[in-house]
Amino acid sequence: MPKQIFYEPEALNYPLGKEIFRYFKSMNIPINPTTSHNRVTGIKGDTPQEAYREAKNTLVIGVRRSKDFQSCKPSAHYQLPLATSCPGMCEYCYLSTTLGPKPYLRVYVNIDEILNITKEIIQSRSPEITIFEGAATSDPLPVEKYTGSLKKTIEFFGKEELGRFRFVTKFTNVDSLLTIQHNNHTRFRFSLNSQEIINKFEHGTPSLIERLEAAAKVVKAGYPIGFIVAPIFRFENWKNEYRSLFLLLEKYLYENLPENWSPDSLTFEFITHRFTSRAKSNITNIFPNTKLPMNEEERKFKFGQFGYGKYIYTSNEIDELKEFFLQTVEKHFPEAKIEYFI
Ligand code: SF4
Repeated sequence: MPKQIFYEPEALNYPLGKEIFRYFKSMNIPINPTTSHNRVTGIKGDTPQEAYREAKNTLVIGVRRSKDFQSCKPSAHYQLPLATSCPGMCEYCYLSTTLGPKPYLRVYVNIDEILNITKEIIQSRSPEITIFEGAATSDPLPVEKYTGSLKKTIEFFGKEELGRFRFVTKFTNVDSLLTIQHNNHTRFRFSLNSQEIINKFEHGTPSLIERLEAAAKVVKAGYPIGFIVAPIFRFENWKNEYRSLFLLLEKYLYENLPENWSPDSLTFEFITHRFTSRAKSNITNIFPNTKLPMNEEERKFKFGQFGYGKYIYTSNEIDELKEFFLQTVEKHFPEAKIEYFI
């Protein structure tokens, strides 16, 4: 539950905007207007840590005005912007560099307009299939209880012959999405890690077991499902920890498979830990006591495509990780598709 709300007055022209506004008003949460969801002032904090925490407890009700969707290569063709940011506080959040020091949450109430743009894009690319990613700017699940936008989007794609939707989450409030007509057009992905890593770095997110329980419900509901294991770390006992993760995953999945489940509808994505100098500086600003392994001397420097470099594990270390994960998938889920290992 956010501690404070801002709203764009125009958002109240939309039924969803009115509904969310009334809900928070009835909960006695401080609620104030803002001129733009992109420039919210009034999020306090004397230190970077305070400002960050305050932002994570702030929700903005806005209207997404841009008629363009950004591209989202290589995993999808376009981003589908349902929300921005999320209440989790993962130290290595993939959004932290783009969202800046105050990553406040934003929900967009003009969902019908957003889906109309989606439809136009799908039609313009016909007869090709167009894939949209719903988690490029947020984890869309935590705000679902206020907006219902994910449900509406999955139902929309269920009716689109040439549209596909995918998103990834660390959250578990999946119940409202289990009985809707997804028509196999939405791929539901969960981000997983060993419980030790979740405890250390993924503050304010559900535990591994909670995520597996949610994934089991999603599989039972017949959705195509995928798992991202990221970031992968080499830490003491990493092989045993990640082995246990796969044992648990096998148990939860196989106990809940629907009759018509096809094993090749399961996908895996693997991302080893990496960091840029900028990310390191942001992380140490917000989490001054972080235990994240970010010693440049222990890593290999690799130039990135946008001119800045990143620190990755050494080639031998990555080879060992890759061999371990590919063999583990082969053992537990031989028919699954590995989308990438980086
Ligand atoms: Fe970032 Fe995802 Fe963690 Fe939210 S759950 S803070 S979006 S990494």
